[in-house]
Amino acid sequence: MDDEIICIGCGAKLQSDDPKQAGYLPASALKKAQETEDTDVYCQRCFRLRHYNEIMPVDLNNDDFLALLNSLAEKKALVVNVVDLFDFSNSLLSSLKRFVGDNDFILVGNKFDLFPLNTCQSKIKDWMRQEANRMGLHPKEIFLISAARQKYLDDLIEYLNKASQKEDIYFVGMTNVGKSTLINAIIDKMGDIKDLITTSRFPGTTLDRIEIPLENGHYLADTPGIMSQNQLATRLNPKDLESASPKKPLKPATFQIKPGNTIFLGGLGRIDFIKGDPAGFTVYAARAVTLHRTKTSNADDFYQKHVAEMLTPPTGSDYLPPLKGQEYHTDFKSDLLFGGIGFVTVPANCVVKTYTPDKIGLGIRRALI
Ligand code: GDP
Repeated sequence: MDDEIICIGCGAKLQSDDPKQAGYLPASALKKAQETEDTDVYCQRCFRLRHYNEIMPVDLNNDDFLALLNSLAEKKALVVNVVDLFDFSNSLLSSLKRFVGDNDFILVGNKFDLFPLNTCQSKIKDWMRQEANRMGLHPKEIFLISAARQKYLDDLIEYLNKASQKEDIYFVGMTNVGKSTLINAIIDKMGDIKDLITTSRFPGTTLDRIEIPLENGHYLADTPGIMSQNQLATRLNPKDLESASPKKPLKPATFQIKPGNTIFLGGLGRIDFIKGDPAGFTVYAARAVTLHRTKTSNADDFYQKHVAEMLTPPTGSDYLPPLKGQEYHTDFKSDLLFGGIGFVTVPANCVVKTYTPDKIGLGIRRALI
């Protein structure tokens, strides 16, 4: 009997030696699975996650992971980098160039359902291509999809179907971009295996590699999500992550403001209007993020007094780094980015300062809407 059983949730090898490592299952449960030759088994972590929505920490061995990614360059494969359109800069794999080798790669922008309906697809794709090119990456194709809603998937699936006739397909991405949800959706559309991979809103849920064989002899492979301190998702507790993550299309909220005004995006983001003509600033964020306007001269005190109370999320302020700011001048109508929270559209010729905890996810782009 082959003793090696793989968790069908995350792909880790099941073991009962160390509860802190990937694939842990209590000895009695593992023994039972081995005796009955049951291959339909979840590790304890995936089990809890699925049934209680509860995250258990695990030590991911980064060396193994880098070795896995490095081996990509030697394979003939199509590399699919799944990115979160709401945290694009931080979810683009900067080291991808090294891992892709001579292989083709495509970018899949997920969570497109969150953009307002009138968003122009080609503008988003142009922006993604520019950002990718800046990092020396040249995606062959760019797709905008919604994995969770199973929308806009047809073109991507057709592309993958074609590619899989000649090579394996590797999915890579940072944690929390929706890679597992996407692979589940693809499996759902392509075959009859359902919910094979654990999905959750908590970062770092897919461990090790999981291979899904296709009828044509090739396979789809899911690799572990990479965690970065630059993602807000890895800094927030599950409850706050839940409220900061938009679920429905973002509804714009416009504030008529003038220099000397500040808008808070919950306790996670802040934008000061420093110079420019009085203007409308339009905030796109999850509905659970409370928006507040105040005077910039009073903003520091206001924040100290109201963070985690009137300004939520977060619901606790003790675990997050302090807000830090970055000044921008808008040459044209621009989106000021608060990666993972949303963005604020401001007109041309404004000087603004944006803040997040430790400047996580700050950026600017030409306005998309
Ligand atoms: P992974 O770490 O990349 O495998 O990400 P998951 O598949 O676990 O998803 C991370 C979070 O993003 C979960 O809360 C999902 O519900 C959410 N998510 C995934 N796909 C979408 C999508 O298309 N739209 C929206 N709004 N949320 C999504």
